[in-house]
Amino acid sequence: MKTVIVTGGSKGIGRAIVYAFAKAGYNVILNYNTSYQSAKDIVEDLKDCDGIVEMFKADVSNRDEVDSMVEYAVKEFGKIDVLVNNAGICDVELFTDITEETWNKVLDVNLKGVFNVTQSVLRNSMINEKNGSIINISSIYGICGGSCEVAYSASKAGIVGLTKALAKELALSNINVNAVAPGAINTDMLKENYSKEDLEVTREEIPMGRFGTPDEVAELVLFLSTDNAKYITGQVISPNGGLVM
Ligand code: NAP
Repeated sequence: MKTVIVTGGSKGIGRAIVYAFAKAGYNVILNYNTSYQSAKDIVEDLKDCDGIVEMFKADVSNRDEVDSMVEYAVKEFGKIDVLVNNAGICDVELFTDITEETWNKVLDVNLKGVFNVTQSVLRNSMINEKNGSIINISSIYGICGGSCEVAYSASKAGIVGLTKALAKELALSNINVNAVAPGAINTDMLKENYSKEDLEVTREEIPMGRFGTPDEVAELVLFLSTDNAKYITGQVISPNGGLVM
């Protein structure tokens, strides 16, 4: 049986990714940071799946917590086949208003978090196994930039660079590394950071005329972890309803 670690699995897109892998028969480590009850509810809801779904609290920006989670996963399940780096935070403000503290926080969670978890998983499992798939959740703003989201866009563009460089480094180890860069997906992140009016303007700009669903992102992530996608590496695939081409 295969094992996946999903960071930020307690809400939104990460939650949908946890469901997709659990229903596909994987053992799942659902990483969360603050949403304990939500993580607990998901684990309870998925208790009858073929694989085992377990929650593990770790702040992805904290290397000790990340190492504890990865070591636990290897001890419990033997190896890690798939890593989905999904955890992320958003910051919407003028570039001239961003404090050093906010800049560091966004980069620490969104980019250093990917470094922390990926290096830990490679060192503790995937390199030895000479097998694995890593999927990093970037954003369309990592491709085209978002006004009033400079820190966020920089972190998500950093994920694109990390993905491409690491894909080259790991190709002969039979580990593929890809980025998924969603457009506007209907989650708390959208509701908490944008006004209803702003969301309506964005929706009108999307050629398909609607936001994406977390499930639409999750199914793509699941596909990228399969053997059918093994020849795909270093790519940035963007489910965005035609907003960015
Ligand atoms: P969300 O609903 O706000 O969920 C964010 C998730 O990230 C939560 O599970 C949260 O866990 C976790 N998280 C945040 N900080 C963390 C930390 N320090 N350590 C571990 N986990 C942490 O957001 P979402 O919309 O699902 O976004 C998921 C990913 O997709 C993010 O990387 C985001 O940038 C990206 N994305 C989203 C959209 C969109 O339109 N929604 C578009 C493009 C890209 P806790 O709640 O447990 O703290």
